[in-house]
Amino acid sequence: MKIPQPTWLSVLMLVVLSGAAVAAEPGGDDGDDVAIRDVRVFDGERMLPATTVLVRDGLIAAVGPKLAIPAGVPVIEGTGGTLLPGLIDAHTHSYGEARRDALRFGVTTELDMFTDHRLIAEARKEREGRARTDRADLWSAGTLVTAKGGHGTQFGLAIPTLDDPAQAEGFVRDRLGEGSDYLKLVVDDGAAYVGRPRTPTLSDASMRAAIDAAHRRKKLAIVHVAQVGDARKVVDAGADSLIHIYSDRVADEALVAEIKRRDIFVTPTLSVMATLSRAGEGAKLAADPRIAPMLRPAQKDALGQTFPLPKELDQHLPNALENVRRLHAAGVTLLAGTDAGNPGTTHGASQHAELALLVQAGLSPVEALRAATSAPAQRFGLSDRGRIAPGLRADLVLVEGDPSADITATRAIRTVWKNGYAVARVAGKAAPRVGVGAVELLREGQPAPNWAATTDQLIGGHSKSKLAVGQGRDGGPAIEVAGEVVAGAPSPWAGIILFPGVEPMAATDTSGVRELVLRVRGDGRPLTLLVFSGADMNGRPGVQRVETGSDWREVSVPLASLPNVDLTRLRGVSLAASAPGPFAFAVEAVELR
Ligand SMILES: [Zn+2]
Repeated sequence: MKIPQPTWLSVLMLVVLSGAAVAAEPGGDDGDDVAIRDVRVFDGERMLPATTVLVRDGLIAAVGPKLAIPAGVPVIEGTGGTLLPGLIDAHTHSYGEARRDALRFGVTTELDMFTDHRLIAEARKEREGRARTDRADLWSAGTLVTAKGGHGTQFGLAIPTLDDPAQAEGFVRDRLGEGSDYLKLVVDDGAAYVGRPRTPTLSDASMRAAIDAAHRRKKLAIVHVAQVGDARKVVDAGADSLIHIYSDRVADEALVAEIKRRDIFVTPTLSVMATLSRAGEGAKLAADPRIAPMLRPAQKDALGQTFPLPKELDQHLPNALENVRRLHAAGVTLLAGTDAGNPGTTHGASQHAELALLVQAGLSPVEALRAATSAPAQRFGLSDRGRIAPGLRADLVLVEGDPSADITATRAIRTVWKNGYAVARVAGKAAPRVGVGAVELLREGQPAPNWAATTDQLIGGHSKSKLAVGQGRDGGPAIEVAGEVVAGAPSPWAGIILFPGVEPMAATDTSGVRELVLRVRGDGRPLTLLVFSGADMNGRPGVQRVETGSDWREVSVPLASLPNVDLTRLRGVSLAASAPGPFAFAVEAVELR
């Protein structure tokens, strides 16, 4: 769910851009041996009383009520607790700290539905091994399948689009070549989000051709929908799965029956539907004392954020809950997925809220747990996880209490094991405080991850911007920014944005800083520098005009005294052209003083 919005705060949705760099984890290739004794076990399907689970070499070795525990194997008394398979979040956007955040909250596998495809190769290596790690495993759709200017293109990341059904075959082949584990399509013209501009979307012919091409390669075709009418088309076209529950209205029984007849599985993402309807679920989760101590500041921040949507959207959550209730009553397979990466959600923690929302929609707690364990493993073909059974990967979560009696007991986590290793559950450091000093421009010959192109495609415009590496005044590195501002959006722009934190638009404390200094060279057209900061994305940015010319010139922005700037929560600084026409400029020697 990413909704184009005609305001600056949509820049928030640049989420997919950062975090391409991920550090390798220290090695070790078989997990610690451990026995969890006399624990209530949810094995992925059902609850077992007083069972012992033996873990050896990163795998579940044995499960039974009166197991003999080999000498030397450490024993954990499980009385009073419940052991669950590691949770699987069936809808995330995984970048930056996502997989660490996930694991800390017992989500040992994330099924991503659009991120930078360059992350996939490393993720694949990790998930095939059993090394000690502090990150959840990742499967990913890579680049999604959308139309030119459609949902998914607004994030500044230049992605290929599918605009002609004749190209579907090659398009799908290219995605699989990049490592996509499954295909994610978007069929959503924005009409569900009252008062927002419509956006282009896949034609019916392209949608069908992409689904068929995925199926020819034995890959799942998973489709983002927002409306009942689109869901009907997608179901009839043979999609394997719907993501997001359609919520513009309550669907008729015919659609429900057809979804069931075709055995289509649905990931409702009620967590993000709740954000859409301003239900405050994220804020409630952040206040839960079982959750709060493990949240990083950026996660707390994300949970408190909202979409700037009119109150007409408030009806979407009740519609969503009723639509899920009907699918469940019909016996449709439902998966627990959060759409983490979006406002009001965060990786890991939100899966616990999603379970509670599924129960609110009529699932029993055990059914909700299946939706987060064995069901996604089965539907995505992850045969080594999702259940507690001999031979499976020892991804486990030990919680206090009995989640089959109270689903929120999943939040009271005692221990998480990944690949048989107990995970150190610490909330991690705050986002690195960006202090006085030079701002990194390049990394490995590319613009550093904190820099991204930004355009009005966020709000339905068609401006373009591209970053490239250039040379600065004294032979040092510069970032060249070039593109075209196209009239049409309410406030057109195209340029570059700097994120000070580890994730795009995460608040970062830069309160020691007085000014931003950089050198700029351009085509003579003025640029606008915008400073985004404060409690959320709804505030006005600080603004300064920047003149350009063919010679490098130094620009100083008095951040500490610029109106509308809160340096304790700096989120992003963009420099962009706004007058229609082609533009080119370059920046170098960026420094905070
Ligand atoms: Zn999503």
